[in-house]
Amino acid sequence: MSERTSYVAANWKMNKAIEEAEAFLGAFLPKRAEDGPEVVICPSYLALKATVELCAQSRARVAAQNMHEQDGGAFTGEVSAPMLHEIGVDAVVLGHSERRQYFNETDEALARKVPAALAAGLEPILCVGETEKQRDADETEAVLSQQVSTDLAAVETAQLDRLVIAYEPVWAIGTGRTATPEQAQEAVLSIRELVRSRDQSAAERIRIVYGGSMKPENAAELIAQPDIDGGLVGGASLDPDDFAAIVAAA
Ligand code: PEP
Repeated sequence: MSERTSYVAANWKMNKAIEEAEAFLGAFLPKRAEDGPEVVICPSYLALKATVELCAQSRARVAAQNMHEQDGGAFTGEVSAPMLHEIGVDAVVLGHSERRQYFNETDEALARKVPAALAAGLEPILCVGETEKQRDADETEAVLSQQVSTDLAAVETAQLDRLVIAYEPVWAIGTGRTATPEQAQEAVLSIRELVRSRDQSAAERIRIVYGGSMKPENAAELIAQPDIDGGLVGGASLDPDDFAAIVAAA
């Protein structure tokens, strides 16, 4: 049994403005056990402050879904890590496949964003994962290795365990197709081994979670795998009962 505390994050994507975020939290927060897993809510930028305020009295933490790599400057429309930290945000999702696919977020940019988040006191939730074509071509391990090594290149070894890594196979995100527990375990273990090649004790401490159509019905079996420390949940995190059921399974 690992010493790592389970970690479950709700990625709301571009859903729920302030009123809906408040309604969700009003329904969800009383349902979670005090001694349960670490829970992180990732609302839109717009709902961050309200979410921070509502989560302040509970053990739930709050993450943004993106940030700019610079601390400030002429980058119209962007938000920086120190700005997020100032309003009480704890963490930030980086490298989500939707950002890689639709907003050209590259591994080179992530290699700058991850240390910038850490420097500002935010916990990066770094997403990595292969496409269906890459899996079919037997390239999963190579893709994960390239993403993890590039994205973490500038992170000091002593800071590696301050991150959370989410293994999110692109073919499972928002598709209703879930990786089997064996597929997810194999990929997560390979990520842990990549961290181990940098530092043995960081590999034991870092949380690595699974994301991709996680639901109340499949969460327990996925999270029971020895190297899977929790989940990053999209669609099923929009409903307080479904998300509470996933948290209870972790
Ligand atoms: C995600 O957005 O990170 C995700 C895993 O989405 P879904 O659970 O909807 O597949």
